[in-house]
Amino acid sequence: MYKPLRIGFIGAGNMAFGIAKGMLSGNVLPVNIKVSAPSSRNMKRFQEVGISVTHSNAEVVCGSDVVFVAVKPHLVRLVLSEISQYVTKKHIVVSVAAGVTLSVLEELLPENSIVIRLMPNLPCLVQEGALLFTRGANAKQEHGDVLRSLLHCCGLVEEGPEAWIDIHTGLSGSGVAFGAGRLLRDSGKHPAQLRSEVCTPGGTTIYGLHTLEQGGLRASVMSAVESATERARELG
Ligand code: NAD
Repeated sequence: MYKPLRIGFIGAGNMAFGIAKGMLSGNVLPVNIKVSAPSSRNMKRFQEVGISVTHSNAEVVCGSDVVFVAVKPHLVRLVLSEISQYVTKKHIVVSVAAGVTLSVLEELLPENSIVIRLMPNLPCLVQEGALLFTRGANAKQEHGDVLRSLLHCCGLVEEGPEAWIDIHTGLSGSGVAFGAGRLLRDSGKHPAQLRSEVCTPGGTTIYGLHTLEQGGLRASVMSAVESATERARELG
């Protein structure tokens, strides 16, 4: 009989929630998802959609077929060292951490582990994500297909070489902070709040925002609207 895949998230942050929410809009049931994080902060939103939560990363790994590593990049080493002893050849480990390469991930996990590096973005929440993944040495096409089937409701899912991942991070992962109409509308959040959800201190997105601020983006947009309004008045 068909046995549904069990999905685990290590890290209960914004990106984990975005992916989980996207999956739930497809054929994944909340009962098949489990999330872990050391603190209960932000756990409520998972529970509200029927996903169970725990403080034990080991519990998530042992109870999952596909494990998403969704902690901040600087914590990936710590987390992988902790869970490594529970990872078997049956697991598919998917890291969404910006900048953490496949070779680093593979080095920290047992030999022959099936590892995939995925770069998602926050619009997965509203099924408008742009997701790029790259397979590690032991991840076969069939493992990529499993990931695609889980993520297809999160948005557009593509596979590509690892060299594209950093480009995708800058363009789509961080790009949300630079303009995300539907997400803004559907989330009902203030733009500044949405922006902060995609900004890790010292991370890729805040660097991009710094460049926009240096270029005076907000002032330019305000001036553009003002000029166009003035011109419309002149024409009228
Ligand atoms: P976040 O701060 O919202 O969430 C991080 C989560 O990790 C928190 O729930 C925290 O409690 C948990 N955590 C901390 N230490 C842990 C530990 N030892 N074990 C288990 N959980 C632990 O961060 P985020 O924005 O969701 O980012 C998570 C990852 O997703 C990052 O690596 C980032 O590069 C990647 N990512 C984020 C976005 C985005 O738009 N937010 C986009 C693409 C990729």
